[in-house]
Amino acid sequence: MSRPVEDVVQRLTADGIDVVRVSYTDLIGVERARDVLVERLPQAVEHGLSFCRAIYHTTPRGGTVEVPGGLDAGLPDICVRPDLSTLATVPWEDGVASCLGEACEPGSREPCPEGPREVLRRAIGRLRELGLEAVAGPELEYYLCEPDPSSPTGWRRYGDAPGNVYTAGRKGDPDGHLLRTLRHLRDLGLGVTMGNHEFGGGQFEINLAHSGALDAADRAFRFKAAVQEIARLDGRLATFMAKPFNDEGGSGFHVHLSCLEADGRNVFEGGEPDGLSETAHHAIAGVLAHAPALTALLNPTINSYKRFGPDSLAPWLIDWGLDNRSAMVRIPPERGAASRLEVRLGDASANPYLGVAGLVAAVYLGIRDKASAPPPLEGYGYDAAKAPVLPADLPAALDALAADEALTEVLGQEFTTAFLTYKRDEAARFRRHVTDWEFREYAYHL
Ligand code: GLU
Ligand code: MG
Ligand code: MG
Repeated sequence: MSRPVEDVVQRLTADGIDVVRVSYTDLIGVERARDVLVERLPQAVEHGLSFCRAIYHTTPRGGTVEVPGGLDAGLPDICVRPDLSTLATVPWEDGVASCLGEACEPGSREPCPEGPREVLRRAIGRLRELGLEAVAGPELEYYLCEPDPSSPTGWRRYGDAPGNVYTAGRKGDPDGHLLRTLRHLRDLGLGVTMGNHEFGGGQFEINLAHSGALDAADRAFRFKAAVQEIARLDGRLATFMAKPFNDEGGSGFHVHLSCLEADGRNVFEGGEPDGLSETAHHAIAGVLAHAPALTALLNPTINSYKRFGPDSLAPWLIDWGLDNRSAMVRIPPERGAASRLEVRLGDASANPYLGVAGLVAAVYLGIRDKASAPPPLEGYGYDAAKAPVLPADLPAALDALAADEALTEVLGQEFTTAFLTYKRDEAARFRRHVTDWEFREYAYHL
């Protein structure tokens, strides 16, 4: 009898696939990958693929941050093991299939403790100790940009027709980018459900079906990489940066959350007065209580904090409300099996694994500790007299994460140390950087 990986090779070859792209997430959610020739797949499965551990410490522009276990340890390997259960044909690239990889310690099947997928698994495991399975439904927004040599950044917004929120078709999308993308994503098997034009010119939103939290994060991670890749086929840039433009709103990563018991019942389902169970209230309380620390994971860049603010449809305060889009946690109107939290805190730049891990950890803590939520927000949600304000910038968020012992205990110490080291370096680099705004504001008159 042939081994399963050989069956896979045979099937791929019969389907005209000669390359398998094995990808996994680094700390900040960038897809790191290797293209493996199909005939080498059995070896890749048996031994794993070597990557330098520095991948966890590499900045988007190629710098390295000295995270423990990296430079100080001589830049050792990690071993990425292909997970063939996630194999999918890449619809836009002839002869290529892709699958996720699991980042493990070299020569072992032990996942790296700071690996974002492992961090999420840890949080899911803690909730399981309470007999509950986390379910997540991601929504992601992004801007599509076209090259523009006359723009200081080299890019301008695609279409540039504002005011097309909740439209589909050519009005806000002159050459059908959304339809093309939606079909490719469906064919890749990512469980996308629908898409539409968002508020900003050239801004789109695509929703993913809900599923178990790890699967949902896997799909959100692959979704972002796929959308960026598809845009590049057209010579464009799809950016999940939180707030790329001063004159348009930011891009959110809203996460719908619920919890199932072993029999599949949604434990957020409840009765009077709001149709939510006590457990749902504990979960809401958990997310509110840990919100300052969660911002470090769900709003992980310098730029993220420019998305928050009054009248932005992004949150500004730590609050919740019944079908209230100005609240940080919105409870959508559906009840019964669809009872859920829509956490609107995250922005699209978050690493989906870490964002979902933080939320699952906060829900776990809220339920475990039977935390009690304040009354829901009534009406306008941008009144700082009504609720505490979210952290104002990345350094404040990182301090909040470092101070949140309960949350970091769930996420793991190796991860927390690596993440804080990396992000504090980012904050320090920015602190020393002179921006264009400063020159325009000060240079002429001062
Ligand atoms: N773009 C908004 C955000 O940054 C969300 C808009 C909406 O409600 O879809 O979260
Ligand atoms: Mg939206
Ligand atoms: Mg939403």
